[in-house]
Amino acid sequence: MPYTNDPFAHRINPNGTKDSICKKCFLTVGTGETEEHMKILERDHVCDRWRLEVIEIARQRSKVNQ
Ligand SMILES: [Zn+2]
Repeated sequence: MPYTNDPFAHRINPNGTKDSICKKCFLTVGTGETEEHMKILERDHVCDRWRLEVIEIARQRSKVNQ
């Protein structure tokens, strides 16, 4: 995934809605129908601490194995 300042990745669904995915915890923040709706969903998102810890552990392990 190319790096941008936007902490959320958007995926366009076949029905025209968009999924917003947090690039930090990889959680689907939600599905929005408009840019405004997406912004509200993203503003209210809080990363899941448990998920961040699991991702960090996986990252550390992959470093060790290299
Ligand atoms: Zn997050």
